[in-house]
Amino acid sequence: MAKNLLIIGGGAAGPSVAAEAKRSNTSLNVTVLEKGKFVSYSA
Ligand SMILES: Cc1cc2nc3c(=O)[nH]c(=O)nc-3n(C[C@H](O)[C@H](O)[C@H](O)COP(=O)(O)OP(=O)(O)OC[C@H]3O[C@@H](n4cnc5c(N)ncnc54)[C@H](O)[C@@H]3O)c2cc1C
Repeated sequence: MAKNLLIIGGGAAGPSVAAEAKRSNTSLNVTVLEKGKFVSYSA
């Protein structure tokens, strides 16, 4: 069964963690929640 990873915050760190987690485990279900209007605006 695929594992789920929930990341709170879509600034610089969140999408970076999401990409690295997906690279190391392609079957991982990754979800990023961002409360603001923009994602990865600072990366
Ligand atoms: C004025 C200013 C200028 C800067 N200029 C530069 C620069 O020129 N170059 C540079 O390299 N760095 C710059 N920085 C630093 C850079 O912005 C930070 O190092 C970087 O954004 C940190 O990334 P982070 O993902 O840790 O946090 P953040 O970027 O703060 O991301 C956290 C995210 O989590 C979201 N969030 C918070 N709570 C919740 C919640 N409950 N649910 C969902 N989402 C949530 C926020 O909306 C935010 O988008 C600057 C910082 C400031 C304050």
